[in-house]
Amino acid sequence: MEIERHDSDLLIVGSGYAGLWAAIAAREAGVERVAIVDKASIGMSSQSRLCAGATIHCLPEDDLDRWLRDFVEANGFLSRQPLVAEILETSHRRLRRLEEWGIAYAKLGDRPLRLPSRGLPHVLMMVRPTFRDRVGGSAVAGVLRRRAAIGARRRARVFVTDLLQRRGQVVGAIAIDRVTGAPLLFRARAVLLATADCSFRGHYACTYATTGDGYRLAFEQGVRLSNMEFLCMNTGSPHFGFEGTGIALKWGGRLLDARGEPFMARHHPDGDAAEIHELVAAMAREVEQGHGPPFYLDMGEAWRERVG
Ligand SMILES: Cc1cc2nc3c(=O)[nH]c(=O)nc-3n(C[C@H](O)[C@H](O)[C@H](O)COP(=O)(O)OP(=O)(O)OC[C@H]3O[C@@H](n4cnc5c(N)ncnc54)[C@H](O)[C@@H]3O)c2cc1C
Repeated sequence: MEIERHDSDLLIVGSGYAGLWAAIAAREAGVERVAIVDKASIGMSSQSRLCAGATIHCLPEDDLDRWLRDFVEANGFLSRQPLVAEILETSHRRLRRLEEWGIAYAKLGDRPLRLPSRGLPHVLMMVRPTFRDRVGGSAVAGVLRRRAAIGARRRARVFVTDLLQRRGQVVGAIAIDRVTGAPLLFRARAVLLATADCSFRGHYACTYATTGDGYRLAFEQGVRLSNMEFLCMNTGSPHFGFEGTGIALKWGGRLLDARGEPFMARHHPDGDAAEIHELVAAMAREVEQGHGPPFYLDMGEAWRERVG
């Protein structure tokens, strides 16, 4: 059987934010033949497309050292500090570019509206990105997808199953065309895996593509995987859709059990401001005692305090 072949200088696997940015950056750096493939659709099936799009960008007036300390402490002093510093330092540049490309963020007067970020005392988040009639991750992914289309070849429904190695160097990938079932061969001078993490998120919010394929592909090539403890942020139950609770609980929201009583103070010194896994563990203990489900998020008091 004749195998369909494709040659490129850089093969990017995965077309969420990471893959799309990589394609744009590679083209800007002068890489000629950039190919981007995705087992779902290009830029439109990923977590990036589905997420709320609240993103952390350190602005020039922010205290970078404080932000860095927040991240390092929140990750139990285990994260790679120079990498976190570089991401934060360059984040303002990325924000400027998104704005140049037409993304607008929520504003309060003429200042960006920035909200507290879960578990990080100083770090603030830009919220509600929009582009024309699109909001959130869909707006950002749509814009990146459009930019990545300039000069990069894209192909959807291509499931990369294996990497190819020659003399210790990755030289391409084997894939399956998910529509025809035909095998595909991608030869490339370099392969970039932007296939995201694997986590409980794969079971909810329709992010079924988040299955950690990149880790397996890299591991099989002899790559040493590290920092796997950060693989899944906000470990919790797939039944607890916690999106938005970070802000709501910081603004005075309270979790209530099935009887309508607050319970977090009994379980954790940070009460309702505790991390997701602590909230979920507390709920599990309340279930054992017959006090739930359901659990409620009560914004009544916070509303009265702020609005009167
Ligand atoms: C509901 C939800 C809300 C969120 N809200 C926020 C938020 O407000 N702010 C924030 O910062 N983060 C948020 N996140 C997290 C954020 O969306 C992700 O961290 C980010 O989008 C990851 O980008 P990525 O490019 O690494 O991965 P993804 O966007 O997931 O892209 C990975 C791509 O790789 C493809 N792929 C995987 N395996 C293969 C393979 N073998 N072959 C070919 N293609 C493959 C997938 O199909 C997918 O398109 C949220 C996530 C979810 C699910």
